Amino acid sequence: MYQCQNYGQCVFEAPNIFHLNDDDKLEHLAEADESERANVENAVDVCPMQAIRIVE
Ligand code: SF4
Repeated sequence: MYQCQNYGQCVFEAPNIFHLNDDDKLEHLAEADESERANVENAVDVCPMQAIRIVE
C-alpha cells in the first residue's frame, strides 16, 4: 500500500534524497549514499505515515 500523503517532512530532513515535484508529489532516489544515512533515518522518524523504511 502506498502510504505517503506528501506531507513533505522527509524533504526537510533529507533534501538530497527526497523532494516534492511540481505536482507536490514525493519523489525520491532509489538508493541513498551511506553519507545520507543519518538524514534518511531522521526522515523515517518524522514521517507521520511511517511510509519510509530503510532496506539494506
Ligand atoms: S514519505 Fe512521509 S514525510 Fe515524506 S512526504 Fe510522504 S508522508 Fe510526508
